[in-house]
Amino acid sequence: MSTQNIEDNHLVPIYGKREISLLKGEGVYVFDEEGKKYLDCVNGLGAVILGYSNKAFQDAMQEQVGMLMSTHSSFYSKERALFLEALHGILPEELSHSFISNTGTESVEAALKFARLITGKPGVISAKRAYHGRTFGALSASGTSKYKDPFEPLLSHMRQVAYNNITAIEEAYSDEIGAIILEPIQGESGVYVPDTEYLKSVKSFCEEKGIICIFDEVQSAYRTGDWLAATRYGVIPDIVCLSKAIGNGMPIAVTVTTENIAEQVPKGSHGTTFGSNPLACRAGRIVIEQIQQQHLLSKTQKVGEYFKERLQAINSSIIRDIRSSGFFIGVELKKKSGVYVKKMQQDHNILILTTGTVLRFLPSMIFEKKHVDEVIHALEKVLHDV
Ligand code: PLP
Repeated sequence: MSTQNIEDNHLVPIYGKREISLLKGEGVYVFDEEGKKYLDCVNGLGAVILGYSNKAFQDAMQEQVGMLMSTHSSFYSKERALFLEALHGILPEELSHSFISNTGTESVEAALKFARLITGKPGVISAKRAYHGRTFGALSASGTSKYKDPFEPLLSHMRQVAYNNITAIEEAYSDEIGAIILEPIQGESGVYVPDTEYLKSVKSFCEEKGIICIFDEVQSAYRTGDWLAATRYGVIPDIVCLSKAIGNGMPIAVTVTTENIAEQVPKGSHGTTFGSNPLACRAGRIVIEQIQQQHLLSKTQKVGEYFKERLQAINSSIIRDIRSSGFFIGVELKKKSGVYVKKMQQDHNILILTTGTVLRFLPSMIFEKKHVDEVIHALEKVLHDV
């Protein structure tokens, strides 16, 4: 039986499928079972940030598998300590403490639970269109009714307000609110970038009310060309959620916070079996080292800017808006984008993402101008032909 048949017979049919079976990766490319090569702007939904052939990463993973893969956080681990040292070396000094787990939604769950523990208040303000994950807490803070409605009732005391609008937050606030959670740049819903002052106003509002400011940077960390998107806007939140790119495809997530908050989280109030295992921690450290050694942040800013300019130069009446920050790129069309994504894959062997009317590109940090040119050439053709 083919890969497709086996998966279709045995998987819970949650996902719409792309009809290709990916076998291996090389640099910025992936290959399917027939050996067909695709330029990858999906990268495991934004996880594979170093590309597929990073030798230091591959060697480290192989060595660590042979040494020690899993050990619970109740034991000390050298690899965990080295990762913490590397991570807190790149993050703002104020964000000095970490809880390490496995997936984006877990990092959000931990953030929401920490906020509840500290403030004792059940209420959370989040944004419309927000995506924070699929577990009950993260889903309750998310903004898309398609994902939420089948699971109602979710957490109570949740308020969803318009993104990029501080007045909406002020109006939604009440005494029961203990936290605000936002993606600094909204990803899943189509790469919405905030006005310069918005995030600062949110942080000031949280300080004024004595509530916790949480930024979900599961998708935005590293790929804007800064370690955190928040710092591009001059803001340091109380808690930051990280995952995806920080492990280059190895499942790892971190909920980062201040010493003050960390000290108020009681022992035993949260936990995970796999979180902070030495294999994932080593992945996290190697990613930071490779980004530093190859100067990938500045390259991302430069090539990301080039990507944006090339997109802006496309002459097509179908494009409504182009929004981007580094390698976090959305092109909003005036029509549903699914058919364009399909054409890019079938006719041009380029993999991109779609949400509604938005084409989303999440290249790895080793993407070069020549790869951007390849994407633009194909996109121009597809926008013209469809
Ligand atoms: N938060 C944000 C901003 C995300 O983009 C995602 C996933 O796309 C998540 C949380 C959930 O991450 P995961 O799918 O690893 O649970």
